[in-house]
Amino acid sequence: QTFEAIESERVQALTLLAASLAHEIGNPLNALHIHLQLLERELRKLKTAWEGSAPAPASAGAETGSGPRATHTDVATVLARMEQFLQVAQGEVNRLDYIVTQFLQALRPTAPQLRPTSLNDVVRKTVDLLRPELENRGITVQMQLSRAVPETPLDPVQMQQVLVNLVKNAMQAMTRGGTLTLQTGADSEGVWVVVADTGSGMTPEQLQRVFEPFFTTKQKGSGLGLMIVQRIVRAHRGRIEVESHVGRGTTFRIWLPLHERRPRLLEPPGGAAPASEE
Ligand code: ADP
Repeated sequence: QTFEAIESERVQALTLLAASLAHEIGNPLNALHIHLQLLERELRKLKTAWEGSAPAPASAGAETGSGPRATHTDVATVLARMEQFLQVAQGEVNRLDYIVTQFLQALRPTAPQLRPTSLNDVVRKTVDLLRPELENRGITVQMQLSRAVPETPLDPVQMQQVLVNLVKNAMQAMTRGGTLTLQTGADSEGVWVVVADTGSGMTPEQLQRVFEPFFTTKQKGSGLGLMIVQRIVRAHRGRIEVESHVGRGTTFRIWLPLHERRPRLLEPPGGAAPASEE
């Protein structure tokens, strides 16, 4: 059975809330970043000053007693630890910044730059790009690209982003190898591409939530990939469908209209219209 994920009002409201939160986090995060840098600079000065005052090695002179030496070691240890803590804090600030930036970027209105493009070419390029990783993971690629696919008005950069996201998800779902199928075709009104894997599959509950921002079952996932995919497809006035069975695999199917119409400007969340009908 095919499920078409529909952005519920609840999800839209949550997305809007998250967007304003992300935006508000930006300024204090920036201040945090700068102040950690200042702290690092001061710490380095302190370290240099301290090292300059280092006692001579034990063999060099008798005037350095064991008392001051112990203190010296203590301070050096504390300084080293402070440096290490600071590094961790900076790393986390960077991570936070990355997440916030990615999220806001995913929501930013970007109209696709439509120009006559061969969907087959985009598929081929994507597979070429990811082939080393696919081979590494022992995944067999099956390409069934229809010769009947005409050039269609689409944004090749955005469409490649869509396919990269789908193929990466497929790879990650096939932890023990499998088959990735990429299929294209055309009907009287549009072109379509299918990305299918023989991976873990999803439960109906997971399937319902795949397009939600931040929904992820991965340890290092952002949960933003499929939201971006959906937004790009919608901006092209296309449709995306997903079907999945636990233990058997997942199939994503994207349909894009053949005739040029004004692209839909990706609207900020809340104002997003439901998926276009045709
Ligand atoms: P992320 O990859 O960062 O988790 P996505 O939005 O791309 O974010 O995907 C959301 C979730 O949807 C994934 O964590 C995973 O649970 C599920 N998912 C997406 N694609 C597949 C797939 N091909 N097979 C199985 N599960 C998938």
